[in-house]
This record gives sequence, C-alpha cells and structure tokens, in this order.
Amino acid sequence: MTVTKRFIAGAICPRCAEMDRIRSWEQNGIRYRDCVSCDFFEQLPIEDEAEPELETRVNREREEQARSDLQTVKILDPKGH
Ligand SMILES: [Zn+2]
Repeated sequence: MTVTKRFIAGAICPRCAEMDRIRSWEQNGIRYRDCVSCDFFEQLPIEDEAEPELETRVNREREEQARSDLQTVKILDPKGH
C-alpha cells in the first residue's frame, strides 16, 4: 500500500512555527501529521468524516437557517434609516 504524504498549504507547525512544513497522510484509519523542519509528529484517529449523510443534513439545515435569517432581516429592517 502506497501512502501519499501531502503538504498542507498554509499550515503552521505548532512546534517550530514554520509555514508549509507540515505533511499529512492517512493510514489504517489514522491521520498523521509531521513537520519536515523539526521533529513534530502527531496522529489522530479519523472519526469526523465517517458520516457524510449527517454532514449533508447539517448543510441543508444551515441553508434553511440562512433563508430564515434573511426573512427575519427583511421583516425587522426599519424603514428610512
Ligand atoms: Zn516544525
């Protein structure tokens, strides 16, 4: 199995504060990050992206919320300000 390590654009290393030195890759359900400038290394279990269906539902609710906010603004918008 080939693991592709990709640099994260704009990521700043929490240890040496260098930008664009963080690489990220995934293997066996774990997300790894390390820094090529220092010895920073971390691993995180991948959990959040396991339910794309849930994310879609949340996005839809956000859209509805945005629409309802827009209506509220129209109703409450004072005239002649
Ligand atoms: Zn570093």
